[in-house]
Amino acid sequence: MGAGPYGLSVAAHALEAGLDARVFGRPMQSWEWHMPRGMLLKSEPDASHLGDPDRRYGLDAFRRYSYGEPVPVETFVAYGKWFRAQTVKDALDESTVTSVGTEGGLFTVSLSSGACVLARTVVLALGFLPFAHRPDALAELPSEVSSHSSDHHDLSAFAGKHVAVVGAGQSALETATLLVEAGAKPRIVARTRELAWNDTPNDRRSVISRALAPRSGLGSGWPSYVWSELPGSVRYLPKAARRRIVRTTLGPAGSWWLKERFDGAVPVTLGVRLEGADHRGAVRLHLTNGRGNVQTLETEHVIAATGYQVDVGKIDILDQNLRRGIRSAGPTPRLSRTFETPMPGLYVVGLAAAATFGPAMRFVHGCDFAARRVTRGLVNQVRKSA
Ligand SMILES: Cc1cc2nc3c(=O)[nH]c(=O)nc-3n(C[C@H](O)[C@H](O)[C@H](O)COP(=O)(O)OP(=O)(O)OC[C@H]3O[C@@H](n4cnc5c(N)ncnc54)[C@H](O)[C@@H]3O)c2cc1C
Repeated sequence: MGAGPYGLSVAAHALEAGLDARVFGRPMQSWEWHMPRGMLLKSEPDASHLGDPDRRYGLDAFRRYSYGEPVPVETFVAYGKWFRAQTVKDALDESTVTSVGTEGGLFTVSLSSGACVLARTVVLALGFLPFAHRPDALAELPSEVSSHSSDHHDLSAFAGKHVAVVGAGQSALETATLLVEAGAKPRIVARTRELAWNDTPNDRRSVISRALAPRSGLGSGWPSYVWSELPGSVRYLPKAARRRIVRTTLGPAGSWWLKERFDGAVPVTLGVRLEGADHRGAVRLHLTNGRGNVQTLETEHVIAATGYQVDVGKIDILDQNLRRGIRSAGPTPRLSRTFETPMPGLYVVGLAAAATFGPAMRFVHGCDFAARRVTRGLVNQVRKSA
């Protein structure tokens, strides 16, 4: 379920393994409609391949980019659709899944087309949208003046408007920059006292520097290398260590190529906590700084670029029984080596698997690993029940 990078990769592997697989959802929908037009990928081109068994349909087979060259989101969407045409073909049904239940040992999958499909196994590849985190402090504001960064694709609707963008990660900094370029007047509002920016990538490093800090899909350095290239090993770490790794690896920071466009163009209010907000003609954000001083910021719209918090209890297409089962260990599911949840036959990949397999699952880079492992699990399950 879900035809983003993970769903398409799992389907490509499963079909090649001879399974009777179907993938549901519009291809690359969240990249096409829930990320801003004009966005550039933060990941390097060689960490942005979807996964197929023979590695024939990587991004470079669609279009070549050199190391350090940012990939436009529009190209990545076109690549995902091309990947689907090469690998998944007509095993894709663009219907939305409206509910998933169980009956007689099978999953019942209801679709927006009105059809109902029976399946022996289900892979949830629903991505980040179900987990958009909206701060409680903004809960009282009406949706016309308050939104999440994932609600937007075309920022030109904000031309001429004052917009507060809450957050200090890539999404916040790039949304604010694209807002300026679309004629709006954004301001970054963030808890951090100083914005962080990633270093310019350098592919001409000495042999010693490469040995000390090897490059991988998640950046440079040995820890990143392990989390990126050996995600299977992360599962064996204690829960607290996994949580820390996921929280701290690639924390909020802007891309090196964004800094020049951002600096001097976007005003910032840093070192403040968002305590509340009200709406009386204008939106008023109530902020406190480290010394407890209160300040009010007026704006016309506030965009929470505050990321995503996984809670599988929010996957509302699952019936209560399935939801309770996959949430039995808490907001993030306990997963087997093959990404199977405690509910037999129900698998989860992508962001929701990061608590088990580490930060690679937050990025496209992890989709080939996940697709290989899941397919192994699916094949074993089918063999057992044959
Ligand atoms: C602004 C932003 C920028 C990012 N930039 C990068 C980057 O540069 N590089 C990188 O590696 N990662 C990036 N990421 C992370 C990126 O989201 C993941 O790497 C990637 O999308 C994971 O793929 P996925 O298939 O798990 O999720 P998604 O791409 O979100 O795909 C899930 C799909 O499931 C669909 N779906 C949901 N519910 C249903 C349903 N009920 N029925 C049918 N379909 C459904 C959704 O519409 C969506 O198309 C970025 C994330 C954001 C928010």
